Amino acid sequence: MDLMEYQARELFLAAGLPLLRGKTVENAEDLKGLEVKYPVVVKAQVRTGGRGKAGGVKFGNNEQEMIDAAKAIIGMDIKGHHVEKVMAVEAVDIEREFYLSIILDRNTKKHVVIFSPEGGMEIEQVAKEKPEAIYKMPIDPILGICSTLGMYLGGKAGLNKDQKKELQQILEKLYAFAKNHDCMMAEINPLVLTPEGHIMVCDAKVTVDDSAIFRLPDVKAYKDEEKTAPLIAEAAEKNFLYIPCEAKGNIVVISNGSGMLMSCIDRITKRDMTVSAVLDLGGGATAERIQHAVRILFSTPGAEYLFINIFGGITRCDEVAGGIRKAVEELGVTKPIVVRFEGTNKEKGLEIIQGLPNVTFADGLREGVEVLYEHTH
Ligand code: GDP
Ligand code: MN
Repeated sequence: MDLMEYQARELFLAAGLPLLRGKTVENAEDLKGLEVKYPVVVKAQVRTGGRGKAGGVKFGNNEQEMIDAAKAIIGMDIKGHHVEKVMAVEAVDIEREFYLSIILDRNTKKHVVIFSPEGGMEIEQVAKEKPEAIYKMPIDPILGICSTLGMYLGGKAGLNKDQKKELQQILEKLYAFAKNHDCMMAEINPLVLTPEGHIMVCDAKVTVDDSAIFRLPDVKAYKDEEKTAPLIAEAAEKNFLYIPCEAKGNIVVISNGSGMLMSCIDRITKRDMTVSAVLDLGGGATAERIQHAVRILFSTPGAEYLFINIFGGITRCDEVAGGIRKAVEELGVTKPIVVRFEGTNKEKGLEIIQGLPNVTFADGLREGVEVLYEHTH
């Protein structure tokens, strides 16, 4: 899985690498009021390099310029990638640009540090034009980063003693990150020398081994986010409110009204179960809409059990029951559904859901949560 720059930046920050946190938005106007020192750099968030050349990296000297830059970049097409998000971050003053990455070499089954004093442009181009300016240093998995690597590579880039020490730190942190995040690649291009003489990270590109994502909660959350974004949009289209909760959850909840939803989440959490997403129907849902709600919620990554808790007023229990039956019979939903409803047409609703093998009725919120508990434990 390729991470977007803003995601890779978050992980790099947590790994102690020297870089600045940006703000990432889908609407340019959301950058209004951002507290930063200008100039800022506004960057397209897409899973490809070469954004600079394609016009996906722009500078802003004040708020208006920053917002204009964001407007210009959102919606762009960069090498076939549609730009939906931009990140704004304080621009780093650049004295010189270097290239640094750690890749996993399949042939030697080792990580390799790749460094070049010629940064900024793509490494393939450096390889073509000036192959002698690329240093490839395999890492012994037992010894890790050699304590003199920073000195050696820093020497090639003409760094002074303190800067070589900073480079050594960066090498060690990047290697630790690449190792414990199962990276196929962790690339910093450009790594820069500032006029003040410090080394800073100005771009972050990370590819994580797909088969390791299950054990990397922070990466898994990014992956889930990608899957839930279209669900939020689809729910909104139908006038539902879809709210993702915890990535590790396996229970999804449908209710009407935020108070009802919150008390469901509270009770479920208190019984040591975890909610992965909830959906607020709003008032007055038809069977058709309930069926959509069930489908959308069960599309949540990790969703295994659905709890439906409805207080029927404007929303009638028989419509809710009809929607559940449609979901089971027409969409083939087989995962367990626990339903509790109370109010208008409750008896009629009960008749409608009778005989559905994966649907359990509970007479009360507390009872419903207990049924869920029995299912999950
Ligand atoms: P890429 O083209 O997709 O790799 O995007 P980058 O993040 O590498 O940005 C492209 C170029 O924009 C870099 O090589 C830098 O020259 C410039 N750039 C990016 N971030 C900064 C920054 O913080 N300050 C300055 N001065 N230039 C930047
Ligand atoms: Mn770059």
